[in-house]
Amino acid sequence: MRALSVVSEIYPLIKTGGLADVAGALPGALRAEGVTMRTLVPGYPALMARLTAAVPVHAWPDLSGHPARLLAGVAEGLNLLVLDAPHLYDRPGNPYVGPDGRDFPDNALRFGALSRVAADIGRGLLADFEPDVIHAHDWQTGLVPAYLRYDEGPAPAVVFTIHNLAFQGEFDPRFLAPLGLPPRAFAIDGVEYYGNIGFLKAGILFADHVTTVSPTYAAEIRAPAGGMGLDGLLRARGAALSGVRNGVDERAWNPSADPLIARAYDIRGIDHRAVNKAALQSALGLEPAPEAPLIGIVSRLSWQKGLDIFGACLDEALEQGARIAVLGAGEAGLEAFYRDAAAANPGRVGVRLGYDEALAHLIQAGADMLVVPSRFEPCGLTQLCALRYGCVPIVARVGGLADTVIDANDAALSQRAATGIQFQPVERDMLAAAIRRAIDLYRQPMIWRRIQWNGMSCDVSWREPARRYAEIYRAAAGGGAERPLVERRRA
Ligand code: ADP
Repeated sequence: MRALSVVSEIYPLIKTGGLADVAGALPGALRAEGVTMRTLVPGYPALMARLTAAVPVHAWPDLSGHPARLLAGVAEGLNLLVLDAPHLYDRPGNPYVGPDGRDFPDNALRFGALSRVAADIGRGLLADFEPDVIHAHDWQTGLVPAYLRYDEGPAPAVVFTIHNLAFQGEFDPRFLAPLGLPPRAFAIDGVEYYGNIGFLKAGILFADHVTTVSPTYAAEIRAPAGGMGLDGLLRARGAALSGVRNGVDERAWNPSADPLIARAYDIRGIDHRAVNKAALQSALGLEPAPEAPLIGIVSRLSWQKGLDIFGACLDEALEQGARIAVLGAGEAGLEAFYRDAAAANPGRVGVRLGYDEALAHLIQAGADMLVVPSRFEPCGLTQLCALRYGCVPIVARVGGLADTVIDANDAALSQRAATGIQFQPVERDMLAAAIRRAIDLYRQPMIWRRIQWNGMSCDVSWREPARRYAEIYRAAAGGGAERPLVERRRA
């Protein structure tokens, strides 16, 4: 089966969050399931620079007002189709915002063009690659199934994945004509969403199947409290909405062969984590304190991630002898809070503000615990990495965090099943209690070691999720690789 993935970021070429990790890992994991996946991405400067032996496979004299090309090439083992449209993508900043931190004003057109090209590939633009299914990710690609719906003629199935319902891609209706959508599309049973054009809404409405990245999040977003305005539509999709948890890319995250940490180790050599703990303490200017429980954070600093809630627990954790290692970037107020916390607690709170892949790995390998106090969390990758690295996760019982960590309550401890600590509701006193509980367990080395072992023994790989995606693709495409293409295509 042939699948086209279309996505606005992909690890290791360009990344702002977990979406890139998923897009980068899925093609490799799907190979074992008999799925050949190519990925369509925008030609950002960082990506163009690393594209080798790229061949132009299509050219447009006018795509959103200027010439553009589609390049086929390989980078970091990924089989890519790159939309080289300098007027849309050749700019400083990250994929979505300029250096001033503001959304690009033409994001509707930038990602509309990406979606239009994905739909065209689905409709046979490339003679040598006619996908049976298009896997579109997040609001940036929500118009893919909309274009296919409003075009005439046969089209491949579309599976649409919501990685975070909070980002919905809403744009002024004046973009309707420039996006090439017909006037009748601006309706409640079309792309209209509270008076705007809703990219995420369009994806949810028109895709053959909608997935999100954990079973619990799939349930949460069907309810008003978690649905962010879209719960009614999500409920209406019924069984066409399912949850598939993310995996960890085991090539990038493998403690027994990780070039970014001070000392590699596996489940039998867990004591070697001490070398990484010392390296982490040194990297962040923390006192060398091998016995002190070291709590790590690797996160975007945003309201979603609950780092203000952790901030309110900081003093209490320090009073219990903990040390804190924070890596994060994001909201100015949170950055200032953690900068001040480090200044007020030299040697006890170490903070690196910014994006640092190597330090993210060293925290997983050297911290004793990783705190993930998210108010909502579609899946979460850092707690999965933590499990793999023997760093015990302390997580809010929401979304994918609820699905992937087994709380060390008495029952789970007696069954030797516990892999971390969960708390709920997501508020300061509950997190403070969870940290107390974790530190108490940490001071019982036999029990702590068992929790680490249990976590490191979990299968957090892409194998099972890839099998699920392949099943969903086949069901959506309405047949399977054995049937001829014309029959598989929906008229
Ligand atoms: P989200 O996508 O909501 O930000 P996830 O937990 O799904 O959260 O994925 C976050 C990914 O980004 C993980 O791979 C994590 O290691 C990485 N990450 C987050 N913040 C940083 C940072 N400041 N430096 C390096 N890596 C980071």
